[in-house]
Order: sequence, then structure tokens, then C-alpha cells
Amino acid sequence: MSGAGKGAQAKLLGSRFGIPHISTGDILRDHVARQTELGKKVKKIMDAGKWVPDKLIIELVKDRLSRPDARKGYILDGTPRTVVQAEALGRITRVDRVIFLRISEDTAVARLSGRSQCINGHIYGTANPAKIKGKCDICGLALKVRSDETPQAMRSRIGSFHDSAVPVLDYYRKQGKLAEINGEQGIGSVNKEILKHIE
Ligand code: AMP
Repeated sequence: MSGAGKGAQAKLLGSRFGIPHISTGDILRDHVARQTELGKKVKKIMDAGKWVPDKLIIELVKDRLSRPDARKGYILDGTPRTVVQAEALGRITRVDRVIFLRISEDTAVARLSGRSQCINGHIYGTANPAKIKGKCDICGLALKVRSDETPQAMRSRIGSFHDSAVPVLDYYRKQGKLAEINGEQGIGSVNKEILKHIE
């Protein structure tokens, strides 16, 4: 779920194993920023906290996974979010392990409120505020609140999660691939638990 820390964990795993961290959210945000055809199509959907149509996501994932750097493996972040995506993914690649970071809705809302990031994706929040307000510690660029992290969009994202993603959990649970981890813990503890499940 949004705010569960999946982006932070996926980054840690990607660098630990030397494989790419592929976030569909990051790829889509990059398209929106560059105002590509895809970006123009998805901007409104994303701003409203709704989910992008399966067909677009599947095309995007297929394209990204076919690049040479993904040959040795990869960490997919934010996909699949629907059973249709999960089935398509199974036809494109072999899914070894699925990690679900469970958090309460209150935690999701609390973590996402007050979160901001620069255009390079460095994220700040209540637990790790920027040293200078509104400015990225790493690259010095302006920090902005994501347009899909307004309270209204956040409620919609949580609603989308319940409607579409919960069946995905069942799908992988039945295949014995799902590891459920308590995402309320700190980043380090969550990381340790994930490693126990994949090593
Ligand atoms: P994320 O950064 O993973 O929270 O994704 C941000 C937004 O991108 C979501 O709220 C959706 O609008 C869109 N998005 C990312 N991945 C997917 C996906 N697999 N299926 C549908 N929409 C997605």
C-alpha cells in the first residue's frame, strides 16, 4: 500500500543484489514530467489517485524488463496491482517472491502527509525532514508535494488498493510466493525480515 515504504525497501534490495529497481510509479512520473504521450494520458489518472489501465502498465513493464540490465534479475516495485497485471507478468517473466508490506490506513495517511520530493526522487517526510525546508539535501533542488498525495487522492489510492490489490495477494498466496511483512517497523527491521524471506 502507498506509504508502506516499498520504494525505500526496493532501492535497498536493488543495490544489495546489484540488480535494477524498477518502479512503475517512477517510470510513469518521469513520463508525466517529460510530457510524453503516455505522460499526458496518465497525469489526470495519477493525480486523482486512481490506477493506470492494465494495458498501459503491462506494455511499460514488458518494455522495461526486456532491457539488458534486467537480464540478471530485478526488483519490481508497485506492480502488479491487479490480477490482470499479475497474470500478464507471469507470461512475461518468472516471479520468484512477492513481498507485501502491511500497514494500517492511519499509518499510510500519516506517512504520506507531509511527504515531499525533488525531481530526482529523493524523498523527505516527518521521519527524515530536509535540513533546509523545501530544499533537497542531496541535489539542492526544490522539494514538491506529489500531486497524488493530497488527502483526497490518498483516500482514493487506499480505495484502489482494497478493490484491486487485495485479490493479487490471494493470487500469490495460493502459489506460495507471498511473504507478508509488518511495514509498521523501522526501515532496517523491515529490510532484515525481507532478506530472511528471499535469501
Ligand atoms: P507508486 O509510486 O507505486 O505509489 O505509484 C504512483 C501511482 O502510479 C499510482 O497511484 C498509480 O496511479 C500509478 N501506478 C503505478 N504502478 C501502477 C500499477 N502497477 N497499476 C496501476 N497504476 C499504477
